[in-house]
Amino acid sequence: MQGLMMNLPLTISALIRHAANFHGDTEIVSRRIEGGIHRYTYADAHGRIRQLANALAALGVKPGERVGTLAWNGYRHFEIYYAVSGSAAVCHTINPRLFPEQITYIINHAEDRFVFLDLTFLPLVEKLAPLCPGVSGWVLMTDREHMPASTLPNLLCYEDLIHGHGDEFEWPELDENSASSLCYTSGTTGNPKGVLFSHRSTVLHAFAACLPDALNLSARDVILPVVPMFHVNAWGLPYSCALTGAKLVFPGAAMDGASIHELFETEGVTCSAGVPTVWLGLLQHMERNGLRFSTLRRTVIGGSACPPAMIRSFEQDYGVQVLHAWGMTELSPLGTVNSFKAKHAALDAEQRLALQGKQGRPIHGVEMKIIDDDGKALPHDGQAYGNLMVRGPWICRQYFRGEGGDPLIDGWFPTGDVATIDGDGYMQITDRSKDVIKSGGEWISSIDLENTAVGHPAVAEAAVVGVPHPKWDERPLLLVVRKPGATLEREEMLRYFEGRVAKWWIPDDVVFLDQLPHTATGKLLKTRLREQFRNYGLPTG
Ligand code: ADP
Repeated sequence: MQGLMMNLPLTISALIRHAANFHGDTEIVSRRIEGGIHRYTYADAHGRIRQLANALAALGVKPGERVGTLAWNGYRHFEIYYAVSGSAAVCHTINPRLFPEQITYIINHAEDRFVFLDLTFLPLVEKLAPLCPGVSGWVLMTDREHMPASTLPNLLCYEDLIHGHGDEFEWPELDENSASSLCYTSGTTGNPKGVLFSHRSTVLHAFAACLPDALNLSARDVILPVVPMFHVNAWGLPYSCALTGAKLVFPGAAMDGASIHELFETEGVTCSAGVPTVWLGLLQHMERNGLRFSTLRRTVIGGSACPPAMIRSFEQDYGVQVLHAWGMTELSPLGTVNSFKAKHAALDAEQRLALQGKQGRPIHGVEMKIIDDDGKALPHDGQAYGNLMVRGPWICRQYFRGEGGDPLIDGWFPTGDVATIDGDGYMQITDRSKDVIKSGGEWISSIDLENTAVGHPAVAEAAVVGVPHPKWDERPLLLVVRKPGATLEREEMLRYFEGRVAKWWIPDDVVFLDQLPHTATGKLLKTRLREQFRNYGLPTG
């Protein structure tokens, strides 16, 4: 027997329509690339989104066709998100921090018909454009006044493009399983692979992200996504904010501590989200200048492991709750968020901090298990570690254009992460499977060692890689960036590990560096470090 409820599809256009109708005067504030601050409301945004939808139709963009973006977090990027997906085309966000060859590959692989770009990326696009013959036009996200001279023959101006188009547009009623947006993983090995989200997966993910034990979003919040809109749709925040009617603040290209802190204060930001490296810069700026947060209540930290020292600093020095989260592009991206259960109220500060170092509990919609190399499910005892497998309605089942074959194993997506799950359902990543250090047949968690190292007051950032060892196969080598002005030597650093990790986990040596390499999404670039230190001579004896 069928239920007798309305069968309305879940669509992205419904999100912005809801925000415009019921939170019409709520603001969207952006730091403009051209300089200054832009502010308008959800109602204004919906008007311009529909103008853009009309302009896309006039350009001949068809349902299912891809429209690329090379852009920072800002109001025009927000308009493109909704206009493109809402009118049944696919919004393809491109990470501008990738190598130009990768960007060219991605644009051509996605077969982008048009690409929208911020002023910052014009020099890049002038170089790429001749290698992307399928792109009919490049749209510069600015007004006539700021249009620079350019060698590009098919360069359009965003404001000219939408000018003269009406702000009425009938959003099509789509099949909710139709594609809405496309995001390529950075592809540390091989070519980047495209994850193709649908309207249904995006809306379900947006609902789940708002839950109190997830990001806890509401119409009383002011959200500043530091995580870029080209990094898995800014973790879905442009959708979740429209769904709840939260005020949105976009930081543009200015991701340094001073600019972010200024926006937090002037706009009354209550919640933010980003990768640990961004918060590192912000916390250093705060400390140097003796600053406080007057409205910030919580921040979501994910993308790589959030060191307990960072959680401690946010919570104890600044009174800001940290929501440690884990996910990946293939999961839209949210998989787990770390929030407490009622029974954890009894824990003391140190025990709570230790728990928050874990990546958290699965949000309903994400099923999770760990398996050994033979596919056998492992117990949820917080000790056994294995390959983390997931499934759910916002998890990828195949990559765009069949790239990489069928990734699923018995209907589960293998994350490539190694993890434990405890009896309360808290998952902890011990490593990416390719970063695990195998010493004498046992595994050493590089994340654990890095977290410990950054607990030392003189350490700004740390990475641990396995280097070949004649007896133990591999041993950990610690690479450290000192805080500005701090003094720290090898012996003191190694002594710091004593009593904090198992004795045989203590790194064999320390190398001090001025900086560590990062990927286009802000993670430690371990492949580069492994390559660089492949022949490193560890001290013997
Ligand atoms: P990439 O394109 O770099 O793969 P993703 O954002 O999809 O970008 O990366 C997902 C991976 O990032 C996960 O598989 C995991 O290894 C790592 N990751 C994400 N969040 C965390 C976290 N909180 N702790 C540890 N690792 C994390």
